[in-house]
Amino acid sequence: MTKTETPASNGIVGEQHHDILIGNTTVDYHFPFIDDARFIFSPQKDLILKLAGSENTIPAIQKAMAELGIRNRLSVTRLIPSDDQQWRIIPATGTASRTTSPTSVELLFDPNNQNTVDSLASWGDRQIAHELSHVARMEVTQLHTTLLDALVSEGIGVYYEEFWQGEYAESHWGHILDEQGIVREWDIARPELASLTFDYSDWFYGRQNGHPIYTGYSLGNTIVKAFMDAHPSISIAELSRLPSADIVKEGKFST
Ligand SMILES: [Zn+2]
Repeated sequence: MTKTETPASNGIVGEQHHDILIGNTTVDYHFPFIDDARFIFSPQKDLILKLAGSENTIPAIQKAMAELGIRNRLSVTRLIPSDDQQWRIIPATGTASRTTSPTSVELLFDPNNQNTVDSLASWGDRQIAHELSHVARMEVTQLHTTLLDALVSEGIGVYYEEFWQGEYAESHWGHILDEQGIVREWDIARPELASLTFDYSDWFYGRQNGHPIYTGYSLGNTIVKAFMDAHPSISIAELSRLPSADIVKEGKFST
């Protein structure tokens, strides 16, 4: 393990970079937010550092990697998005995340959003769980090639974050549809499941006259939950790598 510490201009010791070996896997951690003026001048700087810095991030990543059986070298970066990437931030949480490749995860937050501290405190580890389920799945398949793959991949992410460490917590995005809504949206999805050109932003983030916001997360979560209810002994490591079609079929959703 190597660790480079740079004094930040606010007197906090900045943690720029850690290389940590977990089992046979090396994880590179980057915390560039520590030298970002938007963090340095945030009135909630100390709280954010505790929640988003290495103290909380590294143990959550380690737990998720062990549970998911991830063996790839991984780069994890916690950052404040640049102005042109600010649109990624979800206003209701002040956070966002991206799995940019099977070896790279970005955890984003906006220090100026009033919901950021609360969501990092209540959901920060679960956000990591969701994202790392994508890393595990990308070992065997692409996440969003078809609508079917997108629903199942995001459904696995939501399932894992909600059941993180055996303490269930309900996400907003995983339960946006009631039972009728699930039936209705599944009927719309069925003929489009194999589509390579489905509208991801409409299915997952909604738009006027399209699907309700977070439809894809809610539908995907319901599909995966039905599968796991029928197969309770399957581990999250196995679930993350199962073919999408099997999860749908064996969860009793008819295509
Ligand atoms: Zn996701």
